[in-house]
Amino acid sequence: MGAGDRILVSACLMGAAVRYDGRAKPLDHPLLARWLEEGRLVPFCPECSAGMPVPRPPAEIAAASGADVLRQSAQVFEAGGRDVTDLFLRAAQNALAEAQRSGCRFALLIDGSPSCGSTRIYDGQFAGLRRSGEGVTAALLRRHGIEVFADHQIDILARQIDRLARQIDGEPGAGDGAEGLSGLPS
Ligand code: SF4
Repeated sequence: MGAGDRILVSACLMGAAVRYDGRAKPLDHPLLARWLEEGRLVPFCPECSAGMPVPRPPAEIAAASGADVLRQSAQVFEAGGRDVTDLFLRAAQNALAEAQRSGCRFALLIDGSPSCGSTRIYDGQFAGLRRSGEGVTAALLRRHGIEVFADHQIDILARQIDRLARQIDGEPGAGDGAEGLSGLPS
């Protein structure tokens, strides 16, 4: 395993009780257990790294996506109306720094979070409705070339890792079928 094969993982996905509601959201999947044994996984909670407490009020990106927050054209608010945009930006920067320090080429993040979401996030109305979009951390990681996968895309991530390993080994045809992967929903 090369250092670049490491995977930044949402800490709550690994069983850490760090979500806004004080709970974890563990993913029971044999691939995760295997990668853990292989030393590939780098568990990280962006929001905790920025000093957000557990539990904490829920937060949503206001009618926009993480990339808009990075462009400073959208904000993140707690349910009570407090603007927490700066905290979410710091969380994303901490996650990027950890991914780069640890040599992570990939990230496997819980979907739906205003930080870790990568295919869907809540719509900013605190009404329990989700729409297509990504969180602030996912957007920043992607901007810096780290491939981000949602928890429900773990099998796609595994195929991507295998494909890259075969490419490195020089196996003919290892690039076949790769085109669609770079276009995964974001
Ligand atoms: Fe989990 Fe990410 Fe939220 Fe931390 S920021 S609790 S890792 S979803």
